[in-house]
Amino acid sequence: MHRRLIAPGALAAASVLLAIPASAASFTPGAPGIGDPYYPAYGNGGYDVSHYDLRLKYQPATDELEGTATLLAKTTQDLSRFDLDFLLDVSEVRVNGVAAAFSASGEHELVVTPKSPLPKGTALTVVVRYHGVPSSKQAYGFTSWHRTPDGGIGANEPESAWWWFPSNDHPLDKATYDVSVLVPDGTQAISNGTLQSTSSKLGWTRYNWRENKPQTTYLATLAVGRFDVTTGTSEGGVPVINAYSKDLGDNDGAARASVERTGEIVDWLSGYFGPYPFSSAGGYVPNTTTGYALETQTRVYYSPRQFANGANTSVVVHELAHQWYGDSVSVKGWKDIWINEGFARYAQWLWSEHEDEGTAQQLADYVYASHPADDAFWTVKPGDPGPENQFDGAVYDRGALAIQALRNAIGDDAFFAVLKGWPQKYAYGNASVADFQRYAEQVSGKPLAALFDTWLFQPSKPAAPAARAASVAPSARGAAPVQPKSWKRIAATNDVHGAVR
Ligand SMILES: [Zn+2]
Repeated sequence: MHRRLIAPGALAAASVLLAIPASAASFTPGAPGIGDPYYPAYGNGGYDVSHYDLRLKYQPATDELEGTATLLAKTTQDLSRFDLDFLLDVSEVRVNGVAAAFSASGEHELVVTPKSPLPKGTALTVVVRYHGVPSSKQAYGFTSWHRTPDGGIGANEPESAWWWFPSNDHPLDKATYDVSVLVPDGTQAISNGTLQSTSSKLGWTRYNWRENKPQTTYLATLAVGRFDVTTGTSEGGVPVINAYSKDLGDNDGAARASVERTGEIVDWLSGYFGPYPFSSAGGYVPNTTTGYALETQTRVYYSPRQFANGANTSVVVHELAHQWYGDSVSVKGWKDIWINEGFARYAQWLWSEHEDEGTAQQLADYVYASHPADDAFWTVKPGDPGPENQFDGAVYDRGALAIQALRNAIGDDAFFAVLKGWPQKYAYGNASVADFQRYAEQVSGKPLAALFDTWLFQPSKPAAPAARAASVAPSARGAAPVQPKSWKRIAATNDVHGAVR
């Protein structure tokens, strides 16, 4: 994309230029975005990260974060310079041991110019030394760093890394993580994966976390504060680590009564989605004022507000379903959000059925019947909603309705084979809505282009014949739709990502 068109007459002159060392002509800057049309500046071009090693120190009283990030990467083009996405203050950058020039650019770009250009395929070790107060930084007028009375939290979608580590911030570039955080004694640092070790010295405690499976940058999380940490193992053998802020007040009981069921729900979901893909599971509930929950890998982020009306296992089901649908199998581009949210919502419908509070079919019928044809709900296309509607309720409800239509079209045997086979086929990778349609067609042996188009890509309510063909909305004409018992609780999780910009 950086090639210029050269008029034929200019070629002779250009070939003279090519006689000088090829390096000077072929090394170009990496793109400042990875190429996602929803978020053109997110992620970067020219390299691919395989591992992040973050060695941090955080002071809860002042929100000061300092640290060193070591990125292992490989160049994917002849590279003269490259960008990272980051907001904190950088004091030094080294590329393969050699000091590199660097500067801030745009809303969240750190431009790194290595001393020598880097041929395609070069292994890179990029060291970034930095410090700053995350809560003092904004990009596009918002922050994803949440201060709490006793610390700070990085958790948001689609962006949260900028506030605490430099990265190639897009789901397409997944990597493993070691996150080591030094905090004052009595304070805990929570992150993804397993807690490898802790050590204390001179009033400070170090927490060493490891996520050994590929993880996208928005699913990396850091929480520092005073937490009560619980550990256990699910009946199916999955280690569980949960953490609760010590000042959750009246929400404390409901939070624990929900999140402590993580192991049970992971095992239940494994029955539909196949083996749990990661080496640990769990969640944490910090004392934040946000409203949403987020499927941060292995360690789900829950806002206390999710539990203001009592225990809510439905939100736990939603976020744990994402561990398969979203975390292990991640979107290729943000337009593919349905392969995350449609299925996490559908898992809530399956849980409703399990809890005897309404079947998936009843929930689908209710969604279809309760939104009249002129409702703006139907103008949102779950298969490509646009960045402004990425987390619109229709992506969830219409998205899950589409899944029920698929189920009715291909039958339960094929449908549940698809549901379980998909997370295996694309485990630890990326996939698109088109990939899902292809996979469902392959497993079911049925052409599904018309069904996907009707339910995911048309900006209008599927007409009655289409709905009847998909066995959705069979209720008699004019009959008031019956609201399933689980509806309100499921709808309450519409806030799940509601506070995201
Ligand atoms: Zn979700």
